[in-house]
Amino acid sequence: MDLFEHQAQELFAKHGVPVSRNRVATTPDEAYAAAAEIGGRVVVKAQVKTGGRGKAGGVKLADGPDAAREVAGAILGMDIKGHTVHKVLVTEASDIVDEYYASLLLDRSQRAFLAMVSRQGGVDIEQVAAESPEALARLHVDPARGLDPDTARRLVTDADLPDEVRDAVVDILVRLWDVFRKEDATLVEINPLARLADGTVRALDGKVTLDGNARFRQPGHGEFVDISATDPLEVRAAEKHLNYVKLDGQVGVIGNGAGLVMSTLDVVAYAGEEFGGVRPANFLDIGGGASAEVMADGLEIILGDPDVRSVFVNVFGGITACDAVADGIVQAVGLLTARGETITKPLVVRLDGNNAAQGRKILAEAALDGVLTVDTMDGAARLAAELAGKGA
Ligand code: GDP
Ligand code: MN
Repeated sequence: MDLFEHQAQELFAKHGVPVSRNRVATTPDEAYAAAAEIGGRVVVKAQVKTGGRGKAGGVKLADGPDAAREVAGAILGMDIKGHTVHKVLVTEASDIVDEYYASLLLDRSQRAFLAMVSRQGGVDIEQVAAESPEALARLHVDPARGLDPDTARRLVTDADLPDEVRDAVVDILVRLWDVFRKEDATLVEINPLARLADGTVRALDGKVTLDGNARFRQPGHGEFVDISATDPLEVRAAEKHLNYVKLDGQVGVIGNGAGLVMSTLDVVAYAGEEFGGVRPANFLDIGGGASAEVMADGLEIILGDPDVRSVFVNVFGGITACDAVADGIVQAVGLLTARGETITKPLVVRLDGNNAAQGRKILAEAALDGVLTVDTMDGAARLAAELAGKGA
């Protein structure tokens, strides 16, 4: 999960990385109030999850509250690389003398952590790495040892930072390591890490990516989730702990096991070519031991997608056998009806594997309205695509 700059700055401050005083504003008047509270010159910065905001006109100096209100009015609503600006960060303006770069990241190819420092900051670091690689000092960090002061000093020396800032940057790097490890980040980046006229060094920008797999031990990170940017169906599915990804087609897909669901997407897309380019509407894996409840939750999410015109339930019976899954489907339809959800879209069910025959028998005997069974995966995909193609 990528964070907004203001959230990154919040984590920096929490671990003692020096940042400028700042406040978030969502309207020009709020920007006025923020600037008045901070006092003096301020910088108004677009909060979008992409870099290069400065070049795009999303970072502007303002002499005081009135100017802050005016530039905030210009920046709010701006489109920066496809991201609409909904909020700005108002920070006290710094008197910059020099700009450096610092980052820590998970280097997957080396299965290690990597620390990087450059004395050429403020600019596009990819460009520095490509044009003058010697200007970017790199060092792998031993996860057991961490980025201790000695290692940080080696990095700062390799990067040839001016003597006057070395102590301060070593201190910042050690604190940045705390941000990285204690917050379970996969990337923390400061660009620019600025040396100010008063001799201090400060993080003037912040980029943080948090490891979503660590969410269970980082309850505080819930507040960083940007609900407005997430598909509402995905939000509902996440609340129900379902592995759901919204896609842009018309055939809802439910299966047990990620591999099976992925191949189902392929088969549906292939079959759909014949029916005007019908495509899968989602990925939904209900897992191995799917209960009626989980099946009902899954169906509810998929049927709630207005783009869905038919649903393909593709189950390969394993430890949870097909008869149990068939019972689950029958109960799920009952549960949905009880919840007041009428099933108005056709459901094509394919059961194979352990106890397939019993499962099919259960569905046949239940004779549910709008539920069709097809014995093969290709046949079922074709029928689901055809029904979606007809707009049935
Ligand atoms: P980015 O363009 O998205 O990386 O946004 P940054 O937050 O890095 O800001 C872009 C540039 O604006 C920086 O490289 C600085 O040169 C400049 N800038 C940011 N904050 C200040 C500040 O407090 N004072 C001054 N003078 N310039 C700033
Ligand atoms: Mn920057």
